[in-house]
Amino acid sequence: MMPADSGPWEGLVAAFARIAEAAGYGLIITPTFEDLAVFQRVGASTDVVRKEMYDFKDKGGRHLALRPEVTASVVRAFIQHRPPVPWKSWYAGSNFRYERPQAGRYREFRQVGIEALGSADPDLDVEVVALGWEFYAAVGASRVELLLNSLGDGNCRPAYRSLLLAYLNDHRSELCEEHQGRFEENPLRVLDCKKPACKEAVAGAPRQLDHLCDDCAAHFARVRAGLDSLGIVYTIDTSLVRGLDYYTRTTFEYAGLALDSAQNGLGGGGRYDGLVGAMGGPETPGVGFALGVDRTLLAVQAEGRLESLGEGRQLDAFVVDFAGGDSARDLTARLRAAGFKADRAFDGRSPKAQFKAADRSGARLALVIGPDEAARGQVAIKDLKQSGDQETVAASDVVEEVRQRLGH
Ligand SMILES: [Zn+2]
Ligand SMILES: [Zn+2]
Repeated sequence: MMPADSGPWEGLVAAFARIAEAAGYGLIITPTFEDLAVFQRVGASTDVVRKEMYDFKDKGGRHLALRPEVTASVVRAFIQHRPPVPWKSWYAGSNFRYERPQAGRYREFRQVGIEALGSADPDLDVEVVALGWEFYAAVGASRVELLLNSLGDGNCRPAYRSLLLAYLNDHRSELCEEHQGRFEENPLRVLDCKKPACKEAVAGAPRQLDHLCDDCAAHFARVRAGLDSLGIVYTIDTSLVRGLDYYTRTTFEYAGLALDSAQNGLGGGGRYDGLVGAMGGPETPGVGFALGVDRTLLAVQAEGRLESLGEGRQLDAFVVDFAGGDSARDLTARLRAAGFKADRAFDGRSPKAQFKAADRSGARLALVIGPDEAARGQVAIKDLKQSGDQETVAASDVVEEVRQRLGH
């Protein structure tokens, strides 16, 4: 990604960091690749792990994989370091999958996310869901639908799974080609199969929501009450099962309604109370989400808000000096030290070339020092966004004048 295009990306990650840290989440930076087993343990029967992982042997014969997602790495780090709980972390970085790229879905794709480990409190689910909701509002994706479901837990899911298997066996001939051949390993995946045959066939399938145990039902009711109380609108979607095996209870997704419905999944997550134990750590509940940066940017763009997302990095001032260059050197340094974003031209370019560079830079102000201004110890301030507006001030006052004009 070139600097000209990365402004919105930078704005998006900065917004996420601000929101996560305001809620007590600390940045975690995990390795780009890990032992293959780290990822195999979390989803051996899923496409993410079976077909789409970039794995390789290194020179020492170790079998490694580029991370397909971050949750497994965060859990691995948690087990290794055993921080006090509840432990809340956020991340931003690249993940990898080996498949044919499509719009907003690349082999190297970026995600931001949070993970909260060590509490089974449904209010934590509410906090997590709400932070994602707040993030989309903050970056200008206003047309987002929140889908919500509960997948039950180890207590009530096995019985539901049997019901679903029996139903799918009875309707095997109506399923899509892939699922006619295989669904026993992960029957829940049939529920969110996008093929019309499966969609139709599972319309009458038993729903986990109707078969929750008392604890799971109470948990889900508290989550719904919390979202209602915060004014967060959601849609119950009983076909929402997520791509990985480790989810329990609350699951959710954010869909970008400004995007084509076949490719509008912006991100999602849920509770994964069994994952830490399954990866060899002490039984520890957890909840989190991962949001796709590329898709989110497409959604923001579709809503016409991409430019404002990148505004944070715009230059404040561009120094145009055709009186020898001392002012360009010293004034840009003063401006930067005062906290402004400032740039200048080099190589003793002509006034015309420097003004062109100032325009192209997107800076709000040009600070102009020609031979006359230099002789009088002055600087001309030109507002590049409001043509014709120009004023001359003493060189010693220019930083303060810039501050007043930009309202910093
Ligand atoms: Zn299917
Ligand atoms: Zn249950």
